[in-house]
Amino acid sequence: MNITVIGSGYVGLVTGTCLAEVGNHVCCLDVDPAKIATLQAGGIPIYEPGLDDMVRRNVAAGRLTFTTDVAESVAFGEIQFIAVGTPPDEDGSADLSYVLAAARNIARHMDGYKVVVDKSTVPVGTGDKVSAAIAETLAERGADLPYAVVSNPEFLKEGAAIEDFMKPDRIVVGADDERAIELMRRLYAPFQRNHERILCMDVRSAELTKYAANAMLATRISFMNELANLAETLGADIELVRRGIGSDPRIGYHFLYPGVGYGGSCFPKDVKALVASGHEHGHTLQVLTAVEAANDAQKLRLVDKVVREFGEDLAGRRFALWGLAFKPNTDDMREAPSRVIVEELTRRGADVIAYDPVAMHEAERVMGDNPRLRFADDMMGPLAGADALLIVTEWKAFRSPDFDAVRAALKQPLIFDGRNMYAPDWLRGEGFAYHAIGR
Ligand code: NAD
Repeated sequence: MNITVIGSGYVGLVTGTCLAEVGNHVCCLDVDPAKIATLQAGGIPIYEPGLDDMVRRNVAAGRLTFTTDVAESVAFGEIQFIAVGTPPDEDGSADLSYVLAAARNIARHMDGYKVVVDKSTVPVGTGDKVSAAIAETLAERGADLPYAVVSNPEFLKEGAAIEDFMKPDRIVVGADDERAIELMRRLYAPFQRNHERILCMDVRSAELTKYAANAMLATRISFMNELANLAETLGADIELVRRGIGSDPRIGYHFLYPGVGYGGSCFPKDVKALVASGHEHGHTLQVLTAVEAANDAQKLRLVDKVVREFGEDLAGRRFALWGLAFKPNTDDMREAPSRVIVEELTRRGADVIAYDPVAMHEAERVMGDNPRLRFADDMMGPLAGADALLIVTEWKAFRSPDFDAVRAALKQPLIFDGRNMYAPDWLRGEGFAYHAIGR
């Protein structure tokens, strides 16, 4: 099949590449000429494990192309995926301007049946808005052409995006047009050889499913963070509690890890957008409002511990920081807790030297103007003479460091661990003062 993907970011590029991998011909469009130039030159604008090889393989096979030319991309595919950003507006609701611009572009150039598939995360009712935008633009052209709008939210996780796309737990397809449903079934057949993965539903339910999934995961995280803070006060160990409850199959182990709060491009904005959607329709989503407030507070939890140790004024202190990305295996710095932590430490007068295995370039782009923040080339680099080590992202490389070298490099053996990476008793036995989350 010939497929167009509009928006070549994390979701668009992974979607386009994986669809090409199974034999389709895919044209990826983006409005960012630098991004397209990088892709055309054989580079990858984002870090996603395995993506570079897969892109190169499919480009070489002639199945994957990149363009900034809207007319060319619209002409290419009968199926047009919209995978552009839906960032939060000032009131927290999703900004649909990119989605609607993409829809109008399709309508401006189409000359036959198109299935417009919304892969971006969008509020309930967006399918109708996309449909109206297409109808209006077609009317302006005096054209009467057939089209269908489908909601096909994406559930991939950054850092494991290819695996998630190639072996999905489920494929949600919201549509009411039989021809479009049939095309979507054919498109996704290679991704579900052993089990039927497609869940067909109406467009509105599909749109809400995506928000419901992210809101549920964010809720689990905030719930555990609040419980962790309580466990600390009560003298309990949240890691033991986590195992104690996770073993119940009704609860399970996933997304129960206490830490410094959730971040990234999805949970914060999707929780906000769902709360805003609720308000718009006269519903106060009390649980989610609390989930967000708890998360905002949790991002400062590690700094609170530092302040308890060193006092409110951190002038003259220098801290080593491991991990900048919002989670391991990505360079994504959007809403990363590290940004709040660095901001607060440096606002209090401290200097910070940070290291991250892949996100340093992105971090420099978003935080490089902070004169009190510097970056180190390797993980031991920030430690020399630092007052303490703070761990913010649970990269594998930080799991079992050379603790003798860490102890020798730091001014004093003091670790603030925002991801509960180490065994407290053992580390304390090694002479470290160790502050973790909820234990
Ligand atoms: P992104 O910012 O990485 O990519 C979006 C791309 O769209 C950018 O490259 C931008 O230049 C391009 N763009 C904007 N307007 C355009 C237009 N009119 N025509 C062509 N290109 C245009 O965003 P992302 O992380 O890929 O997220 C895209 C959507 O998918 C969002 O709604 C997001 O919530 C959702 N989503 C993201 C993830 C994730 O892990 N990143 C997972 C699931 C769903």
